[in-house]
Amino acid sequence: MNQCLLCQQDFYDPLTFQDVFSWSPLLPTSMCSSCQQLFTWQKNSQGPQCQRCQKITEKQVCLDCRHWQKLYPHYSGSHRSLLVYNPSLQEWFHQYKFQGNKQLAHSFQKQLYLFLSNYKNVIFVPIPISENRMKKRGFNQVEQLLKYAKIPYKNLILRTIESDSQTSKTKQERISGTNPFKLNKQMITDMKDDCPMSFIIFDDVYTTGRTMYWAIETLQEIGEIEINTCSLARG
Ligand SMILES: [Zn+2]
Ligand SMILES: [Zn+2]
Repeated sequence: MNQCLLCQQDFYDPLTFQDVFSWSPLLPTSMCSSCQQLFTWQKNSQGPQCQRCQKITEKQVCLDCRHWQKLYPHYSGSHRSLLVYNPSLQEWFHQYKFQGNKQLAHSFQKQLYLFLSNYKNVIFVPIPISENRMKKRGFNQVEQLLKYAKIPYKNLILRTIESDSQTSKTKQERISGTNPFKLNKQMITDMKDDCPMSFIIFDDVYTTGRTMYWAIETLQEIGEIEINTCSLARG
């Protein structure tokens, strides 16, 4: 029996064929099936989406992505998320990020592992948070999701500017502004030559894409590399 991280009810978590016969770490399911149904899973969501960022739209490429294509003509990667933002997830993020309940990072560990391990021979790069946030919260909520999902990662991007929370700004403010990131050059130098040159930048939530494109711009300083992006949720 497992205890659900959200409702504290005991539930039965049967071993699947995949658990037994794959090399994946044996991560327990952390939520009962009724709690899992509180969230909108991208794989179950229907309706037309933007091919590049999964925004709900009738167009093949949404307006946000067209804007980014103009600004970053050399970038052709795409964004994928595990969940779609909904009121239950908003409440979850409130407890996780703003009340600092670190253990909640276990909630999606198994699903996140299965989702991200579809990407082979890539290096995962988490979005860094500001030092102020780190002091207040005590942990980087993006890295914590990867840690509990047993996804190895490298902190190739560092934060230089102490920017305020993106959510407290208007859309226009979020879209403009300066790049708060820099490349961790020491770590790049230390990486072996046989390292894969394909990267997945990972964030907790993808909304306008502004943060992600700054991170892409920073990582592209490495040179000719492949970059795609992922997040726990799509705003
Ligand atoms: Zn539950
Ligand atoms: Zn798009």
